Amino acid sequence: MKVLVSACLLGENCKYNGSNNYNKKVIEFIRGHEVIAVCPEVSGGLNVPRKPAEIVDGMIMTEDGISVSREFREGASLALRQALDEKIDMAILQSRSPSCGVNQIYDGTFSGKLIEGQGVFAEMLKTAGIKVIDVEDI
Ligand code: SF4
Repeated sequence: MKVLVSACLLGENCKYNGSNNYNKKVIEFIRGHEVIAVCPEVSGGLNVPRKPAEIVDGMIMTEDGISVSREFREGASLALRQALDEKIDMAILQSRSPSCGVNQIYDGTFSGKLIEGQGVFAEMLKTAGIKVIDVEDI
C-alpha cells in the first residue's frame, strides 16, 4: 500500500513553530508500506518557522490579518498533484491544521476554539476521492 503522510508526523521540523508532530503510532502503522511525506505549506513556499494561520471565512489568514491563502492553496494543489501522480491508496494527516486537518479546525478567532471542518489539503484529497484519515483516528 502507498500511504501519503503529513511530513510533520514523521518527525520533519516543518511545523509553523519549527518543530514537528512525531507520532509513534503512525510509524508503526506505515511499517512495510511505501510512504510519501508531504508538507503542503512548505510546498507552497512558506518558511519554517512561519506565523500560525487559521481559516477565516474561507480565507487563510495570519492573526495579524495577512492572507496566506495563495501559498496554502498552491501548496495543497502541488501536494495533491503528487498524491495523484503517485497513485496513493490513502493519506494520514495531522489533526486541526488549516492544511491537513480532517475532522476539526480552529474557528478563525485564534482563541483555540475548534469547529467541525477540514484543512484545504484534506479537502482537496477528499474531493479527489482519496481516503483520508486523521492521525487521531488511527
Ligand atoms: S501543513 Fe500539514 S504537514 Fe505541514 S506542518 Fe502543517 S500539519 Fe504538518
